[in-house]
Amino acid sequence: MSFSEKYSRALTARNLTNDAVHSSTDSLTASAISDIRVGGLGSALTRLKASLTSSGKIGEPERARLADALKAWRAEVRKKGIERKWLPTPRTTWDAAAHEAFYTKVAELSLAHWLDGKCEPCGGTGKATINCTCKACNGTGRATVKGERLVVQRTLDMLSDLVGLVGAHGARAASMLRETSLVRRSQRSQ
Ligand SMILES: [Zn+2]
Repeated sequence: MSFSEKYSRALTARNLTNDAVHSSTDSLTASAISDIRVGGLGSALTRLKASLTSSGKIGEPERARLADALKAWRAEVRKKGIERKWLPTPRTTWDAAAHEAFYTKVAELSLAHWLDGKCEPCGGTGKATINCTCKACNGTGRATVKGERLVVQRTLDMLSDLVGLVGAHGARAASMLRETSLVRRSQRSQ
């Protein structure tokens, strides 16, 4: 079982889809993620990825962290989806539920792919053999996102937003670190 599959299972186990559909307002989600918001989603995702990469296993603490991060990320995806008018205005409750399921799918796929989107046949190396490019990923080492066309498109959009979000957080953190060390240095030289 690939890492991404394990994530998906961990996420499904949390029954997030039901949560999301039943809370058509974002109040439940909002309260569940307020602690993430305090530190910023970018920082929460960065920490999550680091902890999953270092432990390599998904126990109860990782699962809980993953579920919180997904809730926060899903809220973000839903917000962007509505702002960017991905889907027509829902006319029936059935439409509305289908839209919610769509946002959930895009959020899950983009987060799982960002956390571990390695191409499975080549293990992310991009090579089938030493001299041969992996046909599955065309040498990129990244797994392709599979699914319905619209889901795949939006997942790729959100994947790039996710990379941007985490990158911005990294840049902010780095500049804060620089400032702190400059302050320390000037304090030391006084
Ligand atoms: Zn490959």
